[in-house]
Amino acid sequence: MVARLGGDEFVALTTGPDTAEEVHELAGRILNALATPIRLDGRELSVRGSIGIVEGPSGERSAAEVLRSADITMYRAKAAGGNRFQLADAEADARAITRHGLTTALPAALDRGEFFIEYQPLVHLGDGTVHGAEALVRWCHPQHGVLGPDRFIPLAEHTGLIVPLGRWVLEESVRQANFWQERHSDGGPLRINVNLSPTQLHHPRLVAETVDVLERSGLEPGALCLEVTESALIGADDDLLKPLRQLAEMGVDIALDDFGTGYSNLANLRRLPVSVLKLDRSFTRGMQQHPADPVDLKIVEGIVSLAHSLELAVTVEGVETGAQAEQLRRIGCDTAQGWYYARPGAPDRIHSLLLADAV
Ligand code: C2E
Ligand code: MG
Ligand code: MG
Repeated sequence: MVARLGGDEFVALTTGPDTAEEVHELAGRILNALATPIRLDGRELSVRGSIGIVEGPSGERSAAEVLRSADITMYRAKAAGGNRFQLADAEADARAITRHGLTTALPAALDRGEFFIEYQPLVHLGDGTVHGAEALVRWCHPQHGVLGPDRFIPLAEHTGLIVPLGRWVLEESVRQANFWQERHSDGGPLRINVNLSPTQLHHPRLVAETVDVLERSGLEPGALCLEVTESALIGADDDLLKPLRQLAEMGVDIALDDFGTGYSNLANLRRLPVSVLKLDRSFTRGMQQHPADPVDLKIVEGIVSLAHSLELAVTVEGVETGAQAEQLRRIGCDTAQGWYYARPGAPDRIHSLLLADAV
C-alpha cells in the first residue's frame, strides 16, 4: 500500500520481504523509479527521494511508533546526503527523540532560568596571574541534569534560540565581569571572554545590542573579548566582517576560537579584525607526553611567531599538565587556559583565585 502522508512525504507499507537483501532491493527499486526523469512543458525534471526503512513483525509496535521511527530514519537518510535509504536503529531513534525533546524545551528553559554560566580562568603564562575568564554556558535540565553546551548549542543555533540565549550569556557575564572589577580594582582590569555563534554573527542587532549591554553595565569595551570560531569566518565576506570590525574599532577584542581546526588560509588572517588566536587543544596534546612531540612543538612555535608578527596574542586551550604549560611559556604563548589551572566553575571561584594572586 502506498499512501501520501502530506507535503512530499509518502509511506509504502509492504509485507513479505523476509531478508535484509530483499528489503534493500525494494528500496533501491523505489529510488530508481523516482529517479526516472519526468517531462513537463518540454523540460526534464528529476525527483530525488530519501527513505527510512522500519522492519519487523507486525503487531510488535503501534502504527504511531512505526511511523515516528520511519520519519526519524528518513531524516537520517536526508542528512547523509539524500537520494538513499537508511535502516531504522533503536539507538539513533532514541537520540533523535532526546534531541527533539531538548529542542522544544529550550525556549521555556530560558524563561525559567535553567541556564547558568561557569567561568574558566585565563592565565598569563609569563607570571601565572589570572587576567580574565571565559564564560561557558550550561543547562540545568530538570530531568537530564547538567548538560554541556555541545548538547544544546547546536540545537539552539538551528532554531534561532541562540540569539536570545547568547544575549543572556553576554549580559550575565558582562555583569559578572563588572562585579569582579569593582571588588578587585587593584589587580588591573579583569577581562571576560564570551563565545559568539555563527547565527549571532549574522544577526543585524549584534553591534547595537553589545553596545547597549556594555553601556548599561559600565564595563569598558576593552574588557570584553568575543570569541568566534575559525570555521564561522572561513570565506567570510565584508558584510559578515563589518559588525566585527565595528566592535573591534570600539575596543572590543575579537578572538579566533579553535584555531587550527578549520583549515583556514593563514594569509586570510590579515583581513580579519581579530586580535587574539585561541589555539585548539589538538595542537598541545602532543606536549603532554615526555619528551614533548618535537613536530607539535615546531608547529606551535611557527604559529606563535606568525601570530606575533601579525600582532596577534596567542591563547592556548586545553592545558592539562605543568609540562605543557612550561613548554608553551618557553615557546612564547601569551595566555593559557585549561584544567591544569582550573576547570570551569562558579564565579566566586575566579574571585578566590584573584585574591590568591594578590597575596
Ligand atoms: P570553546 O569555546 O573552545 O571552550 C573550551 C572548551 O574546552 C570548554 O568546553 C571547556 O570546558 C573545555 N576545556 C577547558 N580546559 C580544558 C582542558 O584542559 N582539557 C579539556 N579536555 N577540555 C578543556 P565546554 O564548556 O564543553 O564548551 C564547549 C563549546 O561550547 C565551547 O568551546 C564553545 O564553542 C561552546 N560554548 C560554550 N558556551 C557558549 C555560549 O555561551 N555561546 C556559544 N555560542 N557557544 C558556547
Ligand atoms: Mg571559546
Ligand atoms: Mg575553543
